[in-house]
Amino acid sequence: MTIRLSSSLSHAFRPNIDAMAGYVPGEQPKPGTHILKLNTNENPYPPSPAAIAILRNIDGESLRRYPDPYANEFRQATSEALGVPADWIIVGNGSDDVLNVVIRACADLERRVVYPMPTYVLYRTLTELQPAETVEIPYGEDYRLPIAELIAANGAVTFIASPNSPSGHGVPIADLRQLAAGVSGILVIDEAYVDFAEETALPLVTEFENVIVSRTLSKGYSLAGLRLGFGVANPKLLSGLFKVKDSYNIDAIACAVGAAAMRDQAYKNECAEKVKASRAKLAIDLKQLGCRIWDSQTNFLLAQPPGSAEQIYLGLKEWGILVRYFKQPGLEDKLRITIGTDAQNQMLLEALLHLV
Ligand SMILES: *Cc1c(COP(=O)(O)O)cnc(C)c1O
Repeated sequence: MTIRLSSSLSHAFRPNIDAMAGYVPGEQPKPGTHILKLNTNENPYPPSPAAIAILRNIDGESLRRYPDPYANEFRQATSEALGVPADWIIVGNGSDDVLNVVIRACADLERRVVYPMPTYVLYRTLTELQPAETVEIPYGEDYRLPIAELIAANGAVTFIASPNSPSGHGVPIADLRQLAAGVSGILVIDEAYVDFAEETALPLVTEFENVIVSRTLSKGYSLAGLRLGFGVANPKLLSGLFKVKDSYNIDAIACAVGAAAMRDQAYKNECAEKVKASRAKLAIDLKQLGCRIWDSQTNFLLAQPPGSAEQIYLGLKEWGILVRYFKQPGLEDKLRITIGTDAQNQMLLEALLHLV
């Protein structure tokens, strides 16, 4: 089908929308195709059986009503799992939604958004949409956080993904504390990968009124398709964010299934331990193939292969294996590889043997 834009639509969009590229999500193969997907950091293990049992028992009649705008059942389960009060939690349609709500509440043309590079590309997309100005500050050698530069950039919002993507490194809590104390705006600590990490910055939300920690059920809890994430911050900060978020951003199914997943921390931790063990093994095997590997606190590895990363990415695709390749300064020679099961990682290694 071809879509013809009539000339009357030439001024339909705001200038920032015309100028921006739009976020490019990782490829999602059609259902039924036999592809090994190691490109968007999904969990290779299924969601908690307790969560799936709740899903099977959803009463269709209950969907006639609008869902709870605060997702209190989910907030209560999360409160108990994390040991934070329920009214310190804001729920989002994926944690992307929480990040978007922060930008909509806090940034505009006079109030800029600051983050180190490379990091999660969506921070730029959401800021361009607002629109607001972005200040991108390069990470130092070995991904040391450029604290002084980040503070000097004076963001209304500063984003730090920790652990970071695509580098995989965790930012030391002492560095985050220094940043939280130094910035005058909001500090968002994006903990999408915390379930695979050794530490969390969550205690900073009680130390600093300007800190919000965001989490997701997409990675550690194997529920990327459910679209559920949340932020933790003091209620004063959340009160502004509640004005901005859609009233019904969390559907009733996500609320109930997500609550069951949060109550089953043991299952989530068991899967995360398996992923971490596979990560250690895969790192050794990739090094043996001649790749440079960075220490990872996530469910992926950043690998610098010998030879062209782009050619290897394309070669793997022909083998039916998707990994993530970013054609971006500093990343053109690297691949981001999601940790699969040991059997899946073995398939990757066999394919790589033919390609590197
Ligand atoms: C995956 C990811 C997210 C998005 O999570 P959703 O809850 O699925 O929206 C946020 N931040 C980072 C750094 C991620 O890698």
